[in-house]
Amino acid sequence: MSILVVGSIAFDSVKTPFGACERALGGAANFFAMTASLFTKVQLVGVVGEDFPQEHLKYLESRGVDTMGVQQTSGKTFHWQGYYGYDLNEAQTLKTELNVFGSFNPRLPEPYKQAQTVFLANIDPVLQLQVLEQVTKPQLVALDTMNFWIESKNAELKRVIAEVDILFINESELRQLADERNTVKAAKKMQTLGAKTIIVKRGEYGALMFHEQGTFFAPAFPLEDIFDPTGAGDTFAAGFMAHIDQAGRFDFATFKEAMVMGSVMASFVIEDFSFDRIKRLEKSEIDRRRKEFKQLTL
Ligand code: AMP
Repeated sequence: MSILVVGSIAFDSVKTPFGACERALGGAANFFAMTASLFTKVQLVGVVGEDFPQEHLKYLESRGVDTMGVQQTSGKTFHWQGYYGYDLNEAQTLKTELNVFGSFNPRLPEPYKQAQTVFLANIDPVLQLQVLEQVTKPQLVALDTMNFWIESKNAELKRVIAEVDILFINESELRQLADERNTVKAAKKMQTLGAKTIIVKRGEYGALMFHEQGTFFAPAFPLEDIFDPTGAGDTFAAGFMAHIDQAGRFDFATFKEAMVMGSVMASFVIEDFSFDRIKRLEKSEIDRRRKEFKQLTL
């Protein structure tokens, strides 16, 4: 099987208490593709500017990511600048430069239109919807977003949420979107909008899943060294979606296993800047951590 993903492909400038990186490769769809390609084929949709390194697109191809859906146009690549304080759970945005994403008009290559599993990674909800409308008959659609879009494109965002099966969202952003302080009530409110499953990301405190058949909690893997949480959400989503894509089932038990895989994958990306850790990640390390993870709770 394979997963179609649309979202930001970016340069990230990030500061944490443990170091900094300038214009490192990033973007929600990029983190997702890098991680999901460890498990399955990925079709990537997005736009980059003239300043984006061709070698990275070639590198993605070498990992089994189809980049036919990535347009390269004149202008600059999306740039996000942010920082984390000692509380690494929440990124503070300093600058969002949409650049080429400001005028992006996604057109799916013919083979992408048959996609069964779709991940609408963080980007303008108008673009997320444009992509979804071109997919003929998807079986499972998930969406991720953030405060930037909750504040600037609220109505458009709610329109896309109505079309998806799964919503991934940070806890504070869920409260903001639902205008409800209590997480359980906020998730239920979002379920009435359309998405049947709500996955609430709580940084180092794990992730909660509200599913039609019940609620499930996956802790975050306790780590000694965390360098940069950027991309943890997208990497979580990639582990989650790739697990379901491989299982080919959508029941509660499969979703619970997917939560564990999401948490396992997110625990790797934060061990280094950008997706450097994902680049050198071996299958055996994933298996080992998954086993260790399962021993965290009874
Ligand atoms: P996360 O997985 O939630 O840590 O997402 C990190 C990625 O989100 C970074 O690589 C950024 O480039 C990207 N990002 C930041 N702001 C936005 C935005 N407004 N729209 C789309 N992507 C963004």
